Amino acid sequence: MAAHFSVQSNFRMGKTEREYRQDIVDVGKLVYQKGWVAANDGNISIRLDDRKVLCTCTGISKGMMTVDDLIVCDLDGNKIDGARERTTEIAMHLTIYQMRPDITSVLHAHPPVATGYAVAGRPLNLALLPEVIIGLGSVPLADYGLPGTPALTEGMLPYIPKYDAILMGNHGCVCYGEDVYKAFFKMEVVEHFARIALVAELLGGPKALPRDEVEKLFNSRTRYGVKSRNTMEPGCPAVAEDVPASAEKLQVTRDEIVALVEEALRARGVLT
Ligand SMILES: [Zn+2]
Repeated sequence: MAAHFSVQSNFRMGKTEREYRQDIVDVGKLVYQKGWVAANDGNISIRLDDRKVLCTCTGISKGMMTVDDLIVCDLDGNKIDGARERTTEIAMHLTIYQMRPDITSVLHAHPPVATGYAVAGRPLNLALLPEVIIGLGSVPLADYGLPGTPALTEGMLPYIPKYDAILMGNHGCVCYGEDVYKAFFKMEVVEHFARIALVAELLGGPKALPRDEVEKLFNSRTRYGVKSRNTMEPGCPAVAEDVPASAEKLQVTRDEIVALVEEALRARGVLT
C-alpha cells in the first residue's frame, strides 16, 4: 500500500526554467492521453520563484504543446514572457499560490468520471479507500463559478487551505502539490477514486468505513510520510456512522416488490 503514497515525483531541487517547461509539456501529454481534457481544455502551472509563474497558454491542446508555447506571468497575472496568450484560468492558479505557500504546481482538467460527480452535484467525500483517506482526506465540491471570472475561484476559497484536490461544480477538478508530478498524481487518484465509487454505485452502493477505522488511517499519515493539511472533520470524509440508514441502498427483487405491494393492497382490502 505504501507505494500509493510515495510515488516518484521526478522532482529535484533547482531545475532550470527549461526543465520546468519540459515538465509541463510532459504532464500535458499525460493529461491528454488519459482523456482528462478535450480539445484545448485544462491548464497547468509551476511557480518558478516568489515573483514568477510558468503557465500554459490558451487555445492549445495540452497534449500537443512545445516548451516555447508556455507563458511566464508575474504573481498578479501579467504576462512577462511568451508569444502566446496566457490561460484564462490563471487567476485560479494565482489564488492557490497566494493561499498555499507550500504549493509549487497547479493542474486543472476535466477528468470525465470525477467531473461527472461534479456535474451531478456530488462531492467525493465518502470514506471508502485507505489510500484516498490517507493521501487526500476527501475531495470536496466547490460551487459553480463562471470560468474566466473571479466567480470561478470564489466557491473554492473555503477548501483551498485544507484540501489538495477540489471538484469544481459543473466544471472539472483542480489538484496542486509541491511539484507538477505530485499535482498530476493527485488528479490520477481523484479520477481513479471516482471510477471505483461509480462502480460501487452500480453494485448496490458504496459502504463507508466506520469512524474508528478512518481515525486510524488519518493517524497513519506520519508513518507514510504524508504531509496533508486536512484533518478529520464531520462529514469530511463521511464515515459509516454519518450515512443515515434511510440513505442506505437495499437490493430488492421484482418479485419481492410485487409481494410487498400485494400485501399492502390486501391489508387495505383492495385485493382479496
Ligand atoms: Zn476548465
